[in-house]
Amino acid sequence: MQNSYNVDERGYYGSFGGAYIPEMLYPNVEELRKCYLSIIGEASFKEEFDALLKDYVGRPSPLYLAKRLSAKYNTNVYLKREDLNHTGAHKINNTIGQILLAKRLGKTRIIAETGAGQHGVATATVCALMGIQCIVYMGEVDIARQAPNVYRMKLMGAEVRAATCGSKTLKDATNEAMRDWISNPVDTHYIIGSVVGPHPFPDMVARFQSIISEEIKWQLKEKTGSENPNYVIACVGGGSNAAGAFYHYLDRPEVTLVAAEAAGLGISSGHSAATTFLGKSGVLHGSKTILMQSEDGQITEPYSISAGLDYPGIGPIHAHLFETGRAKFMAISDQEALDAAVQLSRLEGIIPALESSHALACLDKMSFKKDDIVVINLSGRGDKDMQAFMNSGVV
Ligand SMILES: *Cc1c(COP(=O)(O)O)cnc(C)c1O
Repeated sequence: MQNSYNVDERGYYGSFGGAYIPEMLYPNVEELRKCYLSIIGEASFKEEFDALLKDYVGRPSPLYLAKRLSAKYNTNVYLKREDLNHTGAHKINNTIGQILLAKRLGKTRIIAETGAGQHGVATATVCALMGIQCIVYMGEVDIARQAPNVYRMKLMGAEVRAATCGSKTLKDATNEAMRDWISNPVDTHYIIGSVVGPHPFPDMVARFQSIISEEIKWQLKEKTGSENPNYVIACVGGGSNAAGAFYHYLDRPEVTLVAAEAAGLGISSGHSAATTFLGKSGVLHGSKTILMQSEDGQITEPYSISAGLDYPGIGPIHAHLFETGRAKFMAISDQEALDAAVQLSRLEGIIPALESSHALACLDKMSFKKDDIVVINLSGRGDKDMQAFMNSGVV
């Protein structure tokens, strides 16, 4: 059966997903739901998407056999180099796809939410590319913490609006963006940054990111004679890079899928984002999924050293992969991620993003055979994390 772990016609992955939205947002989401598959299936859309991925983003990203890392684990470790994309991570694959979709829907104004600013930068980038107005909502606290990314967005012509309610972080920025979309349903498209939100966002973002496993398949075939690795390992914040890396392997049970969550200071330390270990079923940002919450259903404030994994839930596709056992979930602490980052830097001369370092750290917790093929999705580069590395005292 093809794609049995994928979304069904009602927008569900098993018992997760759906579109739990206020009535005021229904027309916007419904417009998208009706159009997205036919638009992204058009030949002219694919042509424009592929051309931009090639010449603007720099795809295909290399699949690199990390020889010294492989020797350390006595197996064959390949790195999928999303860190080499324009803007330094996988997020641009999604924002390119969504801006092309927005143009075809006749939208003239883009809004986005951002936490640390990575998705805001990827959105500001494609808006500059297309000459479309861009407004990024960001918590007031995050604006103060992430000055370089705020400046990058402004440099590219985006307006950064502060969310001043609640904890003044990502959750509040998301609420502000939703409010904006409700007030501007005709001319505005909301670019969500991960496989989260109401249907069809999780499926749409997964399709745009699926280029990652599409490339892994032919690149691995070229290098090893087989499309299938034994393992694909990726980190999960909302889960878009993992969804992209898993996508074309979902129905290949011979490929073991491994998802790395952030355990922060420890799973039960109270400072963690290990959603599947701590969470239970609930509704957040428009979909039913697994969430970290208190006894009475209040969302627990998440924590991770890596801003991209600092999210209290996971996309509904991952909740389903967890529930069915299709993917194996691991919890990686701040320290384990930092150690894995130092190791990759020294063995391969590649400084990974702290998010991606969680996927790398899984190597220490698994055992491999000599001829196993292990693919790790290196979702981003570590340049943005220099301050965190310096503060950690790890070197
Ligand atoms: C944002 C980000 C992530 C987390 O987002 P996902 O949607 O879970 O992929 C992971 N790695 C990097 C480098 C990021 O910037």
